[in-house]
Amino acid sequence: KEELNIIQGALELRTKTVEDVLTPLSDCYMLSSDAVLDFCTMSDVMQSGFTRIPVYENERSNIVDILFVKDLAFVDPDDCTPLKTITQFYNHPMHCVFSDTKLDVMLEEFKRGKSHLAVVQRVNSEGEGDPFYEVMGIVTLEDVIEEIIKSEIVDE
Ligand code: ADP
Repeated sequence: KEELNIIQGALELRTKTVEDVLTPLSDCYMLSSDAVLDFCTMSDVMQSGFTRIPVYENERSNIVDILFVKDLAFVDPDDCTPLKTITQFYNHPMHCVFSDTKLDVMLEEFKRGKSHLAVVQRVNSEGEGDPFYEVMGIVTLEDVIEEIIKSEIVDE
């Protein structure tokens, strides 16, 4: 039964897209690029429990960086280090994908190992003006794997 589920999940990777499994922007835990890494912010980050945290500038749809919680290992909250200092130092590459990317393609990209989190965007051509890129949310390797095994992975 379990095996059948997994086989079906694997077959569906070719038809399902990133849009079907993403975490919407409104549910993302993020930091503003002008945040200061004081005790309050750092404990909030720790409490969020996430490993990777998108960093936005001015508005949440404008993701400019990714902070890894491990980047904070040498940061002393008493120094009140600006978040920018850390993101500029580590300068992790940001990986963007389109929302219609099929999950098998997404899995291959994650396996190639650039990053296990990608920012999902789409071309918004509704309305009067010119089409523009719109950020919809984030997708991680875990979201794709959950789709294969067809059940939630409970985080530690
Ligand atoms: P983590 O290692 O931080 O637990 P995972 O890659 O295991 O993250 O993903 C677990 C789930 O949490 C996935 O559904 C993913 O989309 C979501 N997720 C990852 N990072 C964030 C974040 N910063 N804010 C909200 N959801 C996130």
